[in-house]
Amino acid sequence: MSEATDQALLVRRIPYGDTSLICHFFTEKHGRIALMARGARRPKSSFRATLEPLYELQISWHPGRSGMGTLTDVNRGRALLNPAQVLDGQELVAIASRLFQEGDLHGFNELNSGFEVLSSCSQQPLPAAVWKLLEQTGWLGDMSHCWLCSVHVEGSMYWSEGHLLCSACGKGMEISAGLRKSIAALMHGERVLLSEQNAVRWREMIRLILQQHGVKATDSFKC
Ligand SMILES: [Zn+2]
Repeated sequence: MSEATDQALLVRRIPYGDTSLICHFFTEKHGRIALMARGARRPKSSFRATLEPLYELQISWHPGRSGMGTLTDVNRGRALLNPAQVLDGQELVAIASRLFQEGDLHGFNELNSGFEVLSSCSQQPLPAAVWKLLEQTGWLGDMSHCWLCSVHVEGSMYWSEGHLLCSACGKGMEISAGLRKSIAALMHGERVLLSEQNAVRWREMIRLILQQHGVKATDSFKC
């Protein structure tokens, strides 16, 4: 089979044997793929300098006849985040890697838009970036309507099993109108100062929706 090339983001590296790595990538046109990077952990391997998360990558590989393909070349482009955002970026990648599993055609554009939110959002960049990922998985609805009965709600709503509900449809963690408006405004790129209590609550909403869908949260979202 002939070689394939695509734009890619590295989302996981797993040591294999004494010197190799199995690398998971989100690619623009091929979805999520796993490739063997032979000898990538050898000191002189050219892969050592290029196989990094949080960078634009262009990769080439030989697709496997039946099993895993083999990575043949990696070109590292620009860094997607500035150094101060690297830890948040790693958490975002970890969550994206759990949301978009192997064989999924999604992931590349979704994670890129998460990186954009992370770079541009001055308040709560990590929750905003994860929220952006969740929006794109289709798990989130409109913040002013009940996700079950669609009624428009002015006052408090409730977060129950990863859904925003009106008081008639369910109980759960209370989500004030102020928090709902703040989240919507933050996601539109407006400058909003979230109270500490609301910031904690937003992280808890994210933890609960991930849990509801069987996705392990990262440290920032554990209480
Ligand atoms: Zn309802």
